[in-house]
Amino acid sequence: MAVLPILRFPDPRLRRVALPVGAVDDRIRQLAADMLETIYTAPGRGLAGPQVGVLRRIFVIDATWKEGTPTPRVFLDPELIDASETLHAGTEGCLSIPGLPVTVSRPAEVTLRWTDLDGAPRSERLTGAEAICAQHELDHLNGRLIIDLMDADARAAAAPALAAMERA
Ligand code: ZN
Repeated sequence: MAVLPILRFPDPRLRRVALPVGAVDDRIRQLAADMLETIYTAPGRGLAGPQVGVLRRIFVIDATWKEGTPTPRVFLDPELIDASETLHAGTEGCLSIPGLPVTVSRPAEVTLRWTDLDGAPRSERLTGAEAICAQHELDHLNGRLIIDLMDADARAAAAPALAAMERA
């Protein structure tokens, strides 16, 4: 396995809509393993293809390893099937926007459909931290970042830091 370099805001690849993975092969399985290794090293809880320069619809999450119980999961060509009306507001960080935590409100539970590493279709209701991580990473596949989800006050507060990143 290998630790992959992570693209940082404002790299334009983070704003692209990723393309379907399609057929699952060893190259994708290797990428998934490398992406998991990368989040354990970063450290983070999730990573999407575009963040490592792969504009394909793949993301990995492990919402619990930091609490001592690893639950690595890989999602290929994920689709959002349903989202709860109940929202959860929490602080999220992004490995591509280091040092800028953002308060984000999202559906507390979501149902996703995706393809697993054996090429089999899967679907599941995700709850808790997994639901939040999965939505954060799904956003990445559509070129959306947590800074797009800030309210006006947070946007104003973050403006200097974002401007500095854009100049860097
Ligand atoms: Zn992120």
